[in-house]
Amino acid sequence: MSSSLKQIISCTSDYDPDALPVARANEIIRSFVKPASGVEKLSVRAALGRVLAKDVVSPINVPAHDNSAMDGYAVRNDDLGAGEPVTLTEIGTAYAGREFTGEVGGGECVRVMTGAVMPKNTDTIVIQEAVNVDGKHVTIPPGQERGQNCRLAGEDLQKGKPALRAGRMLRPADIGLIASLGIGEVSVRRKLRVAFFSTGDELVSVGKNLKAGEVYDSNRYTLWGMLTRLGCEVIDLGVVRDDPEKLEAAFRKAAASADAVVTSGGVSVGEADFTRQMMAKLGEVVFWKIAMRPGRPMAFGRIRSRGKSAYLFGLPGNPVAVMVTFYHFVRGALLTMMGRSDTDLPLLCVKAETAMRKKPGRTEYQRGILEWKSGEWSVRLTGAQGSGILRSMSEANCFVVLGHEQGAVKAGDYVDVMVMDGLV
Ligand code: AMP
Ligand code: MG
Repeated sequence: MSSSLKQIISCTSDYDPDALPVARANEIIRSFVKPASGVEKLSVRAALGRVLAKDVVSPINVPAHDNSAMDGYAVRNDDLGAGEPVTLTEIGTAYAGREFTGEVGGGECVRVMTGAVMPKNTDTIVIQEAVNVDGKHVTIPPGQERGQNCRLAGEDLQKGKPALRAGRMLRPADIGLIASLGIGEVSVRRKLRVAFFSTGDELVSVGKNLKAGEVYDSNRYTLWGMLTRLGCEVIDLGVVRDDPEKLEAAFRKAAASADAVVTSGGVSVGEADFTRQMMAKLGEVVFWKIAMRPGRPMAFGRIRSRGKSAYLFGLPGNPVAVMVTFYHFVRGALLTMMGRSDTDLPLLCVKAETAMRKKPGRTEYQRGILEWKSGEWSVRLTGAQGSGILRSMSEANCFVVLGHEQGAVKAGDYVDVMVMDGLV
């Protein structure tokens, strides 16, 4: 039985919904969300980017046989001289995929190509550039080490051992590795279904003309993009007016059809009150003011309808705030729901080219441009950092992550950045 949000929150130290540090909010979210069930079998290429549902256990050794890592001569190390050259007789050739089937006796050697199975009784490969050849007579200089230039059976992957662990998102190297085991199909987790919609009376869909006070609904595009890049199956529920009945209908539809629902707008102080009342009917939802910038208000919880439930992420409406809160709260939660075991992204420490304003007591995600300058990577901010200025996200290639306790940054100080490639 999973814990209720209330229980999880009661175990959270210093819980203040009106000034919640980013790390606390993430702790609560991560302990509340659980992986969605459901597995499907896919061909290896179709599994690219999907999450492995079961360990892939190697049915063979890779490589399957001891083989040569170089073009050269396979020799018996015991035949070689310690201090002087030794001349051996070449008795045949081993090719990659075409074995030398004879036995190699004392004083004999075999010409080998890269990837060829080691001929019987040989244990050392001498590269062709190192030897002197006169007809069938091959002179080997001293100083060859036993086992050199040989690849051992199972040195890449061992039979019976897990080659890849469940919970891993399959990357190009992984699908190649699976193919190297001769496996053509893998079990992956089913795609997560995520519904999303925008709220606001001022929103207009693209293709229509704007009247005074109206704005185009851009959040449904950024959200669609972020969810799609994350590998979710998306359900676009459109724009929903600030009307409790319409909102309730949209949330019910989402809960009945999706694993999670992500909305933008309607959680700021003025608007939260009526959303709060409506949410209380649908499930367990908390409203937070997070100690961060941008992106202070946020709703989180689980809603139910027709016997089904979905996790809810109610993000703020400002276009930058919606992206920042998505990347720093929703992304990790959705990956956990997808069964991913690796959800954290690395921070790099680079030099700040300019000063940055920052107050302790909140985490800031300023939008930065990471560039190679004067022999090192350094970061500068994109222009205006207002939470409505989407251009600051578009121009940026990283977030400058200024921690909760951190104060102002001087030019030349080192700061943490999170690179956006890999995030998306
Ligand atoms: P709210 O959180 O609903 O108070 O919205 C905060 C600000 O974000 C307002 O200026 C809204 O007009 C703007 N906004 C809300 N939703 C969207 C949207 N889907 N696309 C673009 N801007 C939006
Ligand atoms: Mg609004």
